[in-house]
Amino acid sequence: MTREERLAALREARVVLVSACLLGEACRYDGKSKGSSRVMQALEGKEVVPVCPETGAGLGIPRPAVVLSGGTGEAVLAGRARAVVAGTGEDRTEAFRRGAELALEAARRFGATVAVLKERSPSCGSQGTHVDDKVVAGRGVTAALLHAEGLIILSDEELSPP
Ligand code: SF4
Repeated sequence: MTREERLAALREARVVLVSACLLGEACRYDGKSKGSSRVMQALEGKEVVPVCPETGAGLGIPRPAVVLSGGTGEAVLAGRARAVVAGTGEDRTEAFRRGAELALEAARRFGATVAVLKERSPSCGSQGTHVDDKVVAGRGVTAALLHAEGLIILSDEELSPP
């Protein structure tokens, strides 16, 4: 789908799954939030389902930054790539998969068909994500699972400025 088609789907959606950090939750790896006025504007009048896949899977706040290693989110879900702590290589793949499953469960439970997700996160990135210390085109682990299950995904950066 084009960006315009996905924006139209967001305008029509009643229930929207949203990365919690974009709503002002201080759930990022560095203990900060990424509250976004363009996201708040786009969600006006809608039912919002906030999710943070990484904290939902038990990774704390703050937590070491994680990158994908060997491929994007689709490759992680297929077992061909991993999620690892940047610098040390400690494996976080299972937590990232679990976080993605929790986000999907939340979408299904509340009937969300559209998601607005934080760009470039190894979980939530939808146009770009961190792989092996570089930002590459592709999805993080949660975005990959939601996309595979038919949700329409917009990144915060694709929304119109307020
Ligand atoms: S980008 Fe996703 S995983 Fe990262 S803090 Fe925001 S909601 Fe949580």
